[in-house]
Amino acid sequence: MFQKGPFLKDQNHDFLPDALDVKLVLPEDASDAMFLAACDLAYRFGMETTGYEGTILAEAGYKGNQIIFEKADQTELVLGETDGDGVKVYLRGDGEALTAFTARLCNTFPKICGERSWKDLLMDMVDDFILRGEDGQLAELKALQEKESGAYAVYGSPRWSEEQKKEAGDAEVYNYKSGQKMYEKVYEFPWEVEVFEELLETEVYPKLKEGSTVKITGAVSETESVRRKMCEAIDAKIREAGAVPEQTTIYCAYKQGYSWLAEEMLPRLKEAGADTVTVYFKPFLPEGQTEWNDENGAIPSYHNLSAETPDKWYDLPIRYLQELYPIEDLLVKELGIERKNVVFKAYEGEDDITYLCQGSKENSVCCEDAYKAAWSERPYMNEYPQMGKVHPSTGYIKAEVNGKPILDKKVRTDLEEIWDVYQSEVLPDCRRYIEEKTGGTVAEEMQPFFHELRMDITVSEPDEPTGSREDLISSLDALHEDMYFVGGDYFKNYGIQKAGVMLDAPGLILPVIHQKEGRPVFRVTLTEPLKDAACITKDGETAAAERKRSEVETWISAVSWENGELNFHITVKGAAEATVKAYAALWSKGVLEKCSCVPVETALVFETESGASYAAQTLEREEKPKAKRIENINLHEHELIGYDTYREIIEELKEVPGIEVFRIAVSYTGRELYAVWLKPEYEGYLSLTKRLARVPSEVINARHHANEVASTNASFMLLKKLLTEDVYKELPDKLNLILIPMENVDGAAIHYELQKEHPTWKFHVARFNSLGKEFYRHYFQQDTIHSEAMGISRIYEKYAPDMMVDNHGVPSHEWEQQFSGYTSPSYKGFWLPRSLLYGYFWYVMNPEYKGNYDVNKVMEDVIADKIAAYPEMKALNQEWSAQFEKYAHAWMPKLFPANYYKEMINYWIPYESNPAHGYSSIRYPWITTVAYTSEVADETAQGEYLNLCARAHVAHDEVTIQMLMEARNVMDCRFTEQDGTILTSYIRKRPMIVSR
Ligand SMILES: [Zn+2]
Repeated sequence: MFQKGPFLKDQNHDFLPDALDVKLVLPEDASDAMFLAACDLAYRFGMETTGYEGTILAEAGYKGNQIIFEKADQTELVLGETDGDGVKVYLRGDGEALTAFTARLCNTFPKICGERSWKDLLMDMVDDFILRGEDGQLAELKALQEKESGAYAVYGSPRWSEEQKKEAGDAEVYNYKSGQKMYEKVYEFPWEVEVFEELLETEVYPKLKEGSTVKITGAVSETESVRRKMCEAIDAKIREAGAVPEQTTIYCAYKQGYSWLAEEMLPRLKEAGADTVTVYFKPFLPEGQTEWNDENGAIPSYHNLSAETPDKWYDLPIRYLQELYPIEDLLVKELGIERKNVVFKAYEGEDDITYLCQGSKENSVCCEDAYKAAWSERPYMNEYPQMGKVHPSTGYIKAEVNGKPILDKKVRTDLEEIWDVYQSEVLPDCRRYIEEKTGGTVAEEMQPFFHELRMDITVSEPDEPTGSREDLISSLDALHEDMYFVGGDYFKNYGIQKAGVMLDAPGLILPVIHQKEGRPVFRVTLTEPLKDAACITKDGETAAAERKRSEVETWISAVSWENGELNFHITVKGAAEATVKAYAALWSKGVLEKCSCVPVETALVFETESGASYAAQTLEREEKPKAKRIENINLHEHELIGYDTYREIIEELKEVPGIEVFRIAVSYTGRELYAVWLKPEYEGYLSLTKRLARVPSEVINARHHANEVASTNASFMLLKKLLTEDVYKELPDKLNLILIPMENVDGAAIHYELQKEHPTWKFHVARFNSLGKEFYRHYFQQDTIHSEAMGISRIYEKYAPDMMVDNHGVPSHEWEQQFSGYTSPSYKGFWLPRSLLYGYFWYVMNPEYKGNYDVNKVMEDVIADKIAAYPEMKALNQEWSAQFEKYAHAWMPKLFPANYYKEMINYWIPYESNPAHGYSSIRYPWITTVAYTSEVADETAQGEYLNLCARAHVAHDEVTIQMLMEARNVMDCRFTEQDGTILTSYIRKRPMIVSR
């Protein structure tokens, strides 16, 4: 009645009702009480619309939607039959009871707890009666147990409480989404160190004679300490044979150029007193190719799909410059020279080398040497060779005895061995498993095909910080990325090939990597959900199974007034009588999760198709007073916040006055998403329609990608500022602000587990949800298994935001994937961090929305000034932009774009307005003026650095909020009378006017 629907219509599609299509029908002899009730209803309808025409009282002969007042003993509101004339609602009663009843309805209906409405609860009840929700599963079980005894098992929702399990008696209760092992395979490999030593044992040591001089050079993908131990052991063996170790050098195969410069050249440059270092690198191009392709790398591509280019190289021409990063820092520090005196140049000579390093002192060369790095070639994907080739690092061994070469061989790294098995066995096994399971036909809606493909790997590899910024040299961080992304590409390609559709949620592809000296072990485990959907079995046979939403309907058929309380009569159609009966009984017992959705003592009456009715009463529960101060809550401002800590903070925030903290969705695995609304403290009824018609709305979303960690900290830090600083005292009066501190709750839980072992890795596996899905693609849908997507959809519909700010992040260090062409194929431009903070503006080009673009431009400006006002943020922005320039942008400006505006990089991404687009500013440009994505370099940030990233988010959020608080709102305000009819409207025009 009081929401958008048949009575309140949204004709201009701004999500707010702007036309009233109902009239009140009073009897000729209407009493004073009836007039009072009619006034209340008129007031409330007025509160819910931004415009109306004509009068609210029906004149004689009126046909259309109507609320009919009737004198009666029973005070009630009843939904009548809808006929050709429209919807009829009867308001019955008289006297004080009618007045009190109508006043209560107008003040509270249809709101329930947690900023939700009856409509939401009725939808959830539908989910219960189709066996999707835990409450419905329990009711169904009780009904079945009552009917017939037996051994019952419930394969239910992940959200069953302990109390509910107790209520289930001797029935077994399982989470049907939990994993069961389908197969497991273990692969063991020789250690590259042993392979290296074995080659010496068989091909070098037997050939040594008394007094031979021996030179060993090689590379293995190992830490400096492992390689030092190898050198010592080799020298000892040579001496044992009576020979003389002349020189034994073993570089790190991973980032060989860095290893060569740092370990071999740096001491020589130091010794020679070099004041300038020039490093020439050979452009990495296929035979005969000289052209550098410089594609656009500003925005990521969602996939890297099959192309008929088997000879294409994924690697960039600057591949061997990339491998040097961040050597400049080391040279500058160790040689005490300026950054400009470290120079990178492309090698144009004819020699078969990868690098030439020239140290010079006072303009003359004082030290010079060359190095050839070893790499191998393989298809990006074994099964899709047409996609092109990649060139991972490989190891090698060379031996010279008395100046004569006697051995020159490649030594495959542990990672190459693991990668081979991943490509040739692990992925094909998984595909075959899917094909057997599905009978060979696959389709998008059959996803997920598995619960988790877990790849537990123990391997000895380098994994260390370099000492510069957040930089790491870690072939394992890189392997984690390679396994996850290439696995995803494999199924996308497979889907295109088999079904013409990208399969982008096959299940969670989860590498779990441990660093340990010794032989590599690779354990693959595939798990499946226990069941595809919820069900209840009796003695092993299905007794009840999840149904479709369309099979059940629930609605409020009447609200009656009993002893000063509202009684809600809920009609349930399509559910078994016994289940409804059990549901009502469980409601009165207080064991249903949904009991907490309505105020205490709310009385319900469930009515079924047979005409039977079952009363249910809502029990008392403890309500915590709103008496906490946010300053006294531990917001973990310097620590990474996982899901459990987030939930603790949310529970405490519920007790803080001035905000409403409410659940907006439950994720696929049953975790909860919350929103925080800065709510004005008005007395009496608060009309959201009027608020939205008067002031702008902003939604600040955090942690959509869960490995981009700082935005959760930023949300809570921002909230504290907003609640405690004077400048924000009037915020709730000037702006509707909603914060979503952790959107991707399942991803956050995955990330938290992984970072325990490797606190600073990138972990892109955790950016998507537990099924590996980019769930923003399911925004604005009424129903989806990726139920976390419902959070934004609901908030958007409710608050129709003028501005959507999405706080994201990018890696804090190099994003390299040596098995994918060194950079991530879909994210080539993201190889290096480019600044502490940068942004994307997603805007529409259509001339009718030019005003939106103007607001975006002002926002860019205020953010740039704000960041420049923080010296440490400005300094880090400058440091990173210098790195980005030196290693990336200067060489390939399109692939590594850097468009500065006042020292800030922003990317402007234009679109034509499109009602099917997933970004709100493109989908609803008449509602959402700005959709801004911010990126801080926080994958994965910890401690003080994490706090700095969070403060960068807070800084741009704050200045945007201030801009909106100062905005001028233009009202389209009409009140005219024409031929005795009143036409009135009060509508805020969008966009708001902002200025500097
Ligand atoms: Zn992101």
